[in-house]
Amino acid sequence: MALLVQKFGGTSVGSIERIEAVAERVIKARQCGHQVVVVLSAMAGETNRLLGLAKQIDAIPTPRELDVLLAAGEQVSIALLAMALNKRGYSAVSLTADQVVIHTDNNFNNATIHEVETQHMTTLLGQDNIVVVAGFQGRDIDGNVTTLGRGGSDTTAVAIASALKADECQIFTDVDGVYSTDPRIVPSATRLDVIHFDYMTCMARLGAKVLQLQSVEYACQHRVPLRVLSSFEEGEGTLVNFDVMSNQNIIGVALQRQQVLVNITLPATVLNEQLGLYGLTAWNLSTNSSDDISQIVISNDDLARLRLVFDSKMRHIGMVSILSLIGKDIQQHLECIQMVLREAGIIVHTYQGDKKCLSLLINEDDHLAAVDLIHEKFVVDGQCLGNLSHLAVS
Ligand code: ASP
Ligand code: MG
Repeated sequence: MALLVQKFGGTSVGSIERIEAVAERVIKARQCGHQVVVVLSAMAGETNRLLGLAKQIDAIPTPRELDVLLAAGEQVSIALLAMALNKRGYSAVSLTADQVVIHTDNNFNNATIHEVETQHMTTLLGQDNIVVVAGFQGRDIDGNVTTLGRGGSDTTAVAIASALKADECQIFTDVDGVYSTDPRIVPSATRLDVIHFDYMTCMARLGAKVLQLQSVEYACQHRVPLRVLSSFEEGEGTLVNFDVMSNQNIIGVALQRQQVLVNITLPATVLNEQLGLYGLTAWNLSTNSSDDISQIVISNDDLARLRLVFDSKMRHIGMVSILSLIGKDIQQHLECIQMVLREAGIIVHTYQGDKKCLSLLINEDDHLAAVDLIHEKFVVDGQCLGNLSHLAVS
């Protein structure tokens, strides 16, 4: 008998039919003799709908009240799943984060989990219940409702799995695992059977949407075995763990679209400090810290917040994309990667990276051609790498 934490995302619980299908899936695990804690997201589109309501009242709603509102979505899905399980003769109890208790800091809209109490869940599991927990929410020290940031249910699942010392944290989603690149953009993308936590962290940080970054970092830090599976098809999915040997040099290609190039009239050092203070993540392109104007790349989603902070100091330049390659000693392939792109007429404005990842700044219009080409040459055709390295140095 194993203890499993199974997390189902918004599309997996997007309708009553899907919730019924999730119930069947959970029951299968029960029938294999496992104890199951289920963590759910809100039904697909629900969090956006609630956000839309708030924005009709205030473009920047009070953070505390926004969390009370957004946490409502998950309360709906957990109750519906528990009902579906009960109807099928399996005892199930739904719990909000406040009932669990999931303790967080008071950073509304983007809270961090400090501790998950296990006693309530353990008692319910011991009484043969399936426990269904609301993802994405927490409570702060004063009893306020908090939320963990978009996609935060993954983190709830991992934190619960870690606290309960579960055998595996299974993230069920609409794709059947982690792919070498986004299969919706590149049809030749392949599913990885296993991936090392270090590379998974890079993939999540650099745009692969399959797992929320915070959840991967949490799982890595607490050594929680993680598996990504499809909620619609059978299969082994992708296992994320620590003992993976790969002879492939380049493991994946990730893409960050909807990025904005912005000039800000502040020296780089001052700007970086300010960005950090406001929790904004940006790629600072300025190399000369004494320059009065800095150039940064920031996600379009953060533009409104950036405006709030820098207002008259900033000038919007244009849209760009960031293409990242993830793999072993990736920097050594920089020259041939640049050559392949140059030959296809794709301009690389600048790059940054470390041993495991390399990010290239390209024009927004080039993102499809670039990801397709790089994936084909460096991931699908592994041989090509040797030939190209040879060409690049000759
Ligand atoms: N419902 C939240 C969101 O849409 C959290 C989640 O789905 O993980 O972001
Ligand atoms: Mg998600």
